Amino acid sequence: MDTPANPPAEHHYLAGLDLAGRRVVVVGAGTVAQRRLPRLVGAGAAVEVIAPEATPAVEALADAGEITWTRRGYRDGDLDGAWYAVAAASPDEVNAAVGAEAERRRVFCVRSDRAVSGSAVTPAVAEHDGLLLGVLAGGFPRRSVAVRDALLEALQSGVVDEHADAPAPGVVLVGGGPGAPDLITVRGRRLLAKADLVVTDHLAPRELLEELGPHVEVVDASKIPYGRAANQDVINRTLIEGVRAGRFVVRLKGGDPYVFGRGFEELLACTEAGVPVTVVPGITSAFSVPAVADVPVTHRGVAHEVVVVSGHVAPGDERSLVDWPSLARLRGTLVLLMAVQRIESFADVLIEHGRPADTPVAVVQEGTTATQRSLRTTLDRVGADVREQGVQPPAVVVIGPVAGLKD
Ligand code: SAH
Repeated sequence: MDTPANPPAEHHYLAGLDLAGRRVVVVGAGTVAQRRLPRLVGAGAAVEVIAPEATPAVEALADAGEITWTRRGYRDGDLDGAWYAVAAASPDEVNAAVGAEAERRRVFCVRSDRAVSGSAVTPAVAEHDGLLLGVLAGGFPRRSVAVRDALLEALQSGVVDEHADAPAPGVVLVGGGPGAPDLITVRGRRLLAKADLVVTDHLAPRELLEELGPHVEVVDASKIPYGRAANQDVINRTLIEGVRAGRFVVRLKGGDPYVFGRGFEELLACTEAGVPVTVVPGITSAFSVPAVADVPVTHRGVAHEVVVVSGHVAPGDERSLVDWPSLARLRGTLVLLMAVQRIESFADVLIEHGRPADTPVAVVQEGTTATQRSLRTTLDRVGADVREQGVQPPAVVVIGPVAGLKD
């Protein structure tokens, strides 16, 4: 019998298989087989792939010893000793033969060519924080994938799964990415959803805060009404006291916490106070904001170096740690953050020390957000253009030939 009376979603029995050390035979080594292999390998199965040809990715798994690849066509008897089989060959007759042998030997077998003909089907799978999700949709893979994605999205945003273990008190420094709320990392978003207290910055993506539950306290560090140094003390104390009160504290920052973000000062303060602290790196605006404005910070044959520079003090300022004359001698890419206010002085010092006046420059304001805008100019004109067009912080300035690759 080829076609089941009921759709698979109704007649299938969903189980979790322990494949560790057990023989699994995959017939075929094309893109379909390739997609199945990582999870089989991840489950610890002893996988034998049987196929005359393989994709480079399957070959690489074999070279790495994660699977064995028997380089020939399928023969009857190949399923000897198998617990599970995947028929993913390209002539469907081969899959039918594999399926028939599997049936004879009472080995569960997935037919990639014709799911209803197999004795097992592969669910759409996702992992989240110790959960393994599998969705079967009775032969409608688009539906199972869509539902799997929606479930994963809900889990990652923390709107379900209240029985997940409460995290131990501590601080996590989370990089929120450059601005678009979906440019935070998966780990960052998952931990944010577990926070009892969130201490945020004005550049951290605000939309992420809307997803937090009503019990979560949010402190906006950019609104603390003291000077900059005093603010940092207040922030450090807020983090430390939060943990001492038994809370899981997320310190949410724009971009990456350690790129001009004072993240490491906070780590040191917490460590000194004996408070556990970890970091979740973020996508820094230094590289991502140019990217979304069609500026790659490196490009083969064009730029073999990229230097990220803070513009928060002027070139001649005694607090400056930047060697501007040396930067002026580089041919590659300079990325300037916090540089809008003093852009003329940076352009001047670079030209004065040898960077050509016609070096391309791109300025990108509020990158990755709905209000993103950018301008293309040259080093000698950037100051005037920034003023004329009213560019405001936050903006990233990219100086170098990469800024002229695409206009
Ligand atoms: N830790 C952050 C940088 C903090 S310094 C990171 O890794 O991205 C703040 C500066 O970052 C701003 O003055 C601006 O130069 C830059 N910046 C941050 N977000 C930006 C955005 N969305 N668009 C343009 N520039 C941005």
